[in-house]
Amino acid sequence: MNDSHPEQLPQRPALEDTDWDRQRAWVEIDLAALAHNVRQIRSLLAPDTQIMAVVKADGYGHGAIEIARTIIAENVEWLAVATVTEGIELRSAGIVAPILILGAVNTNVQAQAIAKWGLQPTICTIEQAILLSKAIAKLAPGLPLTVHLKLDTGMSRLGADWQQAVAFYREVASLPYLRIGSLYSHLATADDLDPTVMELQIARFDRAIAAIGAAGYTIPLLHLANSAGILVSDRSHYNLVRPGLSLYGLYPAPHLQPKISLQPVLSVKARISQIKEIAAGTGVSYGHRFIADRDMQIAVVEIGYADGVPRRLSNRMQVAIRGCLVPQIGSITMDRIVLDVSQIPDLQVGEIVTILGRDGTIEITADDWANELGTISWEILCGFKHRLPRVS
Ligand SMILES: *Cc1c(COP(=O)(O)O)cnc(C)c1O
Repeated sequence: MNDSHPEQLPQRPALEDTDWDRQRAWVEIDLAALAHNVRQIRSLLAPDTQIMAVVKADGYGHGAIEIARTIIAENVEWLAVATVTEGIELRSAGIVAPILILGAVNTNVQAQAIAKWGLQPTICTIEQAILLSKAIAKLAPGLPLTVHLKLDTGMSRLGADWQQAVAFYREVASLPYLRIGSLYSHLATADDLDPTVMELQIARFDRAIAAIGAAGYTIPLLHLANSAGILVSDRSHYNLVRPGLSLYGLYPAPHLQPKISLQPVLSVKARISQIKEIAAGTGVSYGHRFIADRDMQIAVVEIGYADGVPRRLSNRMQVAIRGCLVPQIGSITMDRIVLDVSQIPDLQVGEIVTILGRDGTIEITADDWANELGTISWEILCGFKHRLPRVS
């Protein structure tokens, strides 16, 4: 140790000290809304249909660990993440529920980590199955690893060709150390008004299931439905469903809103750090992409694109203060934004600004941002970065 260092470094305030987490900008997680959404989704399912909660991308930006704990308390049976690292993060937090890795596993390092951490991989090719079987043989002979076979029924992304399902299933089933836990596929267009492609995918999945059954195999679990599939058709449910977006209280498409009543789980808040008057003609922020057309009062807020506020919303977004909508002006910068707060003359430094969420009668949603940007709410949600503390 270098002698010039103090013996004891100052400690960051305790994690449970939420005052510390509310100093600058933060994400607020409404765990009651999350539990409500789980129950709403469950109400659409047959009694023996299980739920696999998709908590990839840090629980769609909400914080995967806290989200996972709450939904497990709501008796959700399964978790799914995209990457091995995401699975390890949940296991390290003490979560013991079965975890499916949705992404492909093509290296020995990944295969060994999966075995070591008790994760359950997706298998799309026979090569992946062989890799995993060999990794288990080396690490823990005798302990079978549960794997999940993925078919491509029309998404044209990950998965084995659905027409080769029987051969694929048979080859994996013949390998040592692997136990097949489920057969699954993924819907490409379930949020579309036109159900044609979804119906085709369901029909292909059904044919693959029937063919595997005819070959003498019993498949423990079958799953196809994402949030949209769950809402659109119970023929997509089988005995396990994989909701993501709907857990977090958003609808995959406006026409699916009447099906159940969901509540947004995430809000984003930040504090005002400085207030000042500027004269007509003054430019604001990088590039002076806003010029004051009158004398105005402006406020600086401590949140920026590094936190997940898309820079393309510059001069195009509104936030809420004291239950009123307030326009953002000038370029959004990495760590802060500027507001025109002329309408609130007695505004104070330290006041809380609602960036997304509800303030009185005002509600600003991820869908509002997504519509403004021509993207989808999924991308907005998982854009909120680790720099924002998650407060519940
Ligand atoms: C992300 C994902 C889901 C969840 O989709 P939502 O539309 O967010 O409900 C389900 N299954 C797979 C394979 C996924 O990658």
